[in-house]
Amino acid sequence: CGIVGYIGNNDSKEILLKGLEKLEYRGYDSAGIAVINSNGVHIFKEKGRIADLRNAVDHSVKANAGIGHTRWATHGPPSKGNAHPHQGSAARLTLVHNGVIENYDRLKREYLPNVELNSETDTEIIVQLMELFVNEGLNTEEAFRKTLTLLHGSYALALIDEQNVDTILVAKNKSPLLVGLGDGFNVVASDAMAMIQVTNQYVELMDEEMVIVTKNEVTIKNLAGAVVSREPYTAELDA
Ligand code: GLU
Repeated sequence: CGIVGYIGNNDSKEILLKGLEKLEYRGYDSAGIAVINSNGVHIFKEKGRIADLRNAVDHSVKANAGIGHTRWATHGPPSKGNAHPHQGSAARLTLVHNGVIENYDRLKREYLPNVELNSETDTEIIVQLMELFVNEGLNTEEAFRKTLTLLHGSYALALIDEQNVDTILVAKNKSPLLVGLGDGFNVVASDAMAMIQVTNQYVELMDEEMVIVTKNEVTIKNLAGAVVSREPYTAELDA
């Protein structure tokens, strides 16, 4: 399983699909991408191979930002409906997740008793919680941090917000995730291998950190909201 993300001046779809192909060796049962432009969010997902996903993508959609996912099902069988990305009921926020949320059932009962879920995944609880907190008045970054503090388990996350086409939010705990630095773009990947063709500069994330990624900036914060500084390293891999 794996995660990729891109935000910059180019069309994101091909970069995401190529990145997912490079992560195929990690194993997966389904795959999906979500891209965002001024018309909104466009989601494409399929059970099966990246080649099937590639066929399902509307290549006429152009978008400068997006996130992608290969799934190794833990909660809910492999299916198109359980494939990521997932959205909350208002379809404002769109999320991909690798890992396992151990307390998802409890969070559902406590915070979302009346929400009808669209999938059988533990992942959907994360994005539904975020939408709940946004509806209660938090901004997306605050809602992200508040949600992360409630989660028990492992996660690598990437999220896009329909009302903010210029930002990808990411976070990690006990699942691998890197941010790659480019000139006029930035990327997200589980493994530098996925994005080595576009950059060899990476910033490692520690557990319980989140990152605000725009095309020109990468800001790491801890879950209390304090900025963390970290130097990038050069990945020595063949493109
Ligand atoms: N637990 C999530 C699911 O079953 C994510 C699995 C993964 O890491 O791909 O959908």
